[in-house]
Amino acid sequence: MVIIALSDIHSETRHFAAMAEALTAADVVLIAGDITHFGGATGAREIIEELRLYNPSILAVPGNCDGRGVQEYLAREGLSLHDRRVDIDGVAFAGLCRWLDDEPAASGGPDMYARAAASLTGARRAVFLTHQPAYGTTVDTLPGGRHGGNRETRALIERIEPVLAVSGHVHEAAGTDRLGPTTLVNPGPARRGRYARIVLSEQVESVELCSV
Ligand SMILES: [Zn+2]
Ligand SMILES: [Zn+2]
Repeated sequence: MVIIALSDIHSETRHFAAMAEALTAADVVLIAGDITHFGGATGAREIIEELRLYNPSILAVPGNCDGRGVQEYLAREGLSLHDRRVDIDGVAFAGLCRWLDDEPAASGGPDMYARAAASLTGARRAVFLTHQPAYGTTVDTLPGGRHGGNRETRALIERIEPVLAVSGHVHEAAGTDRLGPTTLVNPGPARRGRYARIVLSEQVESVELCSV
């Protein structure tokens, strides 16, 4: 399976045409949030419709720069991985966006991290998508050494052990890292023409960080 990972588009689509060949050849296109730059459903639709010209198989979570309408649009279109699992060719895709309201937890139910872990029960191979990376890794390290990642996300990844975890958010920290059996990928901001091409079989076979 070939996965193209995008993140941090921030409403900038001018690099998509140069990614056309890679996008078209992918089995799945993942978007790790900040699809818009403080936009809503209309902004998200414009970007997704442009991407769909190249590939209709898109799964996404919003980021901190996406308004509430972005998640509503993604959910309506069946593209959202927040609180949702999608199985494709034996791979379970799931994800979350920690900035979205957590109503069941507020009313005493399991929080979004527990729900995500439960949703992957029985999955032989999982791919996990978040906007914010796992805390304390090379893919969350800001210039100067501070970490922009999230501790709960790291704990969840260590618990569910997906083969691949894709995130973005820390624009300067494009790269790959490992957390136990999990390959972490931050493709870098698509607004600057960055993406990652990932080949997945039983394990992650290769990660190519690309720039157009
Ligand atoms: Zn961003
Ligand atoms: Zn962000």
